[in-house]
Amino acid sequence: MTQKTADTNPSPGPQRILLLFITTGYEGRDFAEAARRLGVECVLGTDRCHVLEDPWGDGAIPLRFEEPEAAARQIVEYARAHPLHAIVPVGDRPTLAAALASAALGLRHNPPDAVAAARNKFKARAQFAAAGLRVPRFTRFPLEQEPRKAAGAIPYPCVLKPLCLSASRGVIRADNPDQFVEAFRRIRDLLLLPEIRALRDETAEWILAEEFIPGPEFALEGLLDGGRLRPLALFDKPDPLDGPFFEETIYVTPSGLPAAVQQEMVRDTERAAEALGLSHGPVHAELRLNAAGPWVLEVAARAIGGLCSRALRFGLGMSLEELIIRHALGMEIAPAREEPAAGVMMIPIPRGGILKAVEGVEEARQVPGIDDIAITAKLDQEVVPLPEGSSYLGFIFARGASPEQVEAALREAHRFLRFTIASRLPVAP
Ligand code: ADP
Repeated sequence: MTQKTADTNPSPGPQRILLLFITTGYEGRDFAEAARRLGVECVLGTDRCHVLEDPWGDGAIPLRFEEPEAAARQIVEYARAHPLHAIVPVGDRPTLAAALASAALGLRHNPPDAVAAARNKFKARAQFAAAGLRVPRFTRFPLEQEPRKAAGAIPYPCVLKPLCLSASRGVIRADNPDQFVEAFRRIRDLLLLPEIRALRDETAEWILAEEFIPGPEFALEGLLDGGRLRPLALFDKPDPLDGPFFEETIYVTPSGLPAAVQQEMVRDTERAAEALGLSHGPVHAELRLNAAGPWVLEVAARAIGGLCSRALRFGLGMSLEELIIRHALGMEIAPAREEPAAGVMMIPIPRGGILKAVEGVEEARQVPGIDDIAITAKLDQEVVPLPEGSSYLGFIFARGASPEQVEAALREAHRFLRFTIASRLPVAP
């Protein structure tokens, strides 16, 4: 089905977008490539160091996303000489700078308060509850809290998590007060790391504790248009996510859920987005399902992370990134996903250490149904598993006649992969 959105900018001439992303993220290149394919002029704004580096030799505007107001002022200044037709943030970190700059430039975008709420797990919970959505009981504790005291006031099992991180980083289940205390200390240590302090985010001063919601988990990819949610893909996550850490592995679409339940999930996600104030652009939601119905765990104002979007194709082979850029420019989009089932496996890090060798990739590629394998971890670099880490060894992509075939192909390909991870040498005193 083809639908037309209102034009965001009627001015003639080539369209110019500003893509905002952090250079350590995976997805920036896919968005830049999508803009190139669309024939759109693409300017980059990244967190690269001002003077020292220009990693891609791309002349990106250096921005500090941890100071969103200042970054937005820089963007507005830039736009005076180089008019922008859309600002497209990639991933979580640049969303606030993008919203502030878009507001100042009169470009259609989410309100700044909404993207800030989407990035704050405590605020999001409070706004979901106020809107009457199903929400687990939740409470937050300051980092200086004595955890033993807090542990007595909590129903179990529960989940502890930072307010501000993503990709399940620092998310830990606790089944009793002892586990609560251990998890609390572990998350506190994580939040006190210099790299997190450098974000200077007030939300890094808190730890959220909430009831554990049992049930299988799903991810919904969608595009908001004037507050209306257009579902793009609902993914089943066939591996149980019961903790104590919540490592994502396989995503497969289409979902095997009955159509009525899928519709309920889309409706609840739309309500959750509305509760946050989100109205425009991509959303990625995580939901659980049990006898009470769907529970929206979170709605992020961004597309699916990592390289996972490569599992999706729309219309005549359009990528998710192209769809998002077209939507941001007010161009026509046809958000029907290609027919065959598709899936991705985020390759988990089995243990921490230095990645020394990766074998079996060619054999894994030969597995019927496997589209591609991308090993993103670099040799001789440290790999850190959850809950402290936030990356994967890579991604396996598959396509097939049914979701079951796709899932089986992903698992079989994974069995061929062998990773040699050496223990980190202890640092000499
Ligand atoms: P992030 O933004 O880091 O992904 P989430 O709050 O979405 O953080 O949590 C990550 C994962 O942890 C979820 O996808 C889910 O598997 C699990 N999780 C988080 N909160 C709960 C909860 N209250 N009950 C059950 N599982 C949870």
